[in-house]
Amino acid sequence: STPGGPKAREEKIVVTVRLRPLSKRELNLKDQVAWECVDDQTIIYKPPSQERSIASASYTFDKVFGPVSETEAVYEEGVKNVALSALMGINATIFAYGQTSSGKTYTMRGITEKAVNDIYNHILNTPERDFSIKISGLEIYNENVRDLLNSDSGRNLKLLDDPEKGTVVEKLVEETANGDQHLRHLISICEAQRQVGETALNDTSSRSHQIIRLTQADGARLREGCHINLSLMTLTTVIRKLSVGKRSGHIPYRDSKLTRILQHSLGGNARTAIICTLSPAMTHVEQSRNTLSFATRAK
Ligand code: ADP
Repeated sequence: STPGGPKAREEKIVVTVRLRPLSKRELNLKDQVAWECVDDQTIIYKPPSQERSIASASYTFDKVFGPVSETEAVYEEGVKNVALSALMGINATIFAYGQTSSGKTYTMRGITEKAVNDIYNHILNTPERDFSIKISGLEIYNENVRDLLNSDSGRNLKLLDDPEKGTVVEKLVEETANGDQHLRHLISICEAQRQVGETALNDTSSRSHQIIRLTQADGARLREGCHINLSLMTLTTVIRKLSVGKRSGHIPYRDSKLTRILQHSLGGNARTAIICTLSPAMTHVEQSRNTLSFATRAK
């Protein structure tokens, strides 16, 4: 853990890009790499030589991670400061954005593990304070909200407006974790629940969002979401407006369930780490360009 506690870096939104290696399947299909990380902040479109007639393009972010980078580095350099700010009373959101198979699950799994370790290290090193870690998990699919910790809850939980807490999900189960092992177990239940749903989600038009939310006694929260509809489009608009700052005017949080639920995590006393995951494959160039254009607007 960081001596003196979590470092408070100022950025409200930290945007990083992670380029995964070609998969076995892509290699077997003789797909080719179309992207290269030329330094730790720049990724360029660099198609194989026979495709060079297509214009190359360069994109810059807070950090870019190439195909051999470890999740450890993604966490340390792109996420940790945001995650630990949750322990200082700031609403912290970490989310992965990218097309299906670009590496969202892979990346969030590793990051969640590291964040849990850091949170419990911080708790151990801060005996003068009492912490209570609570967790809830939900999935939004076609604007239906499902509880990942309560498989009997049905498929469409209501959102209610609470005068103190803002938007709350009615009847969403919230478990208190008795230590890091218990928290990992609860996170694995959320993961398993979402994977059941995933078989039904195998085409690109059906996109779901998952949120795992951790709450500390004094109201600080760490929220994590992954996966990408209405919620996605609204999230894109909200992030773009937040990144522009005060001049951006009305922010349409209320236009989708994802953004209603995340409103207090994204706006106000909040910090967000966005990890945009990218397939390197030539066959995915269009989706990768879309992801990078989202990432660019979020900067
Ligand atoms: P998504 O959640 O975006 O649909 P996944 O996380 O399931 O994508 O990743 C698709 C496949 O690629 C998985 O088999 C995963 O293990 C692999 N993968 C993703 N990112 C990486 C990476 N950075 N390094 C190695 N393999 C990766």
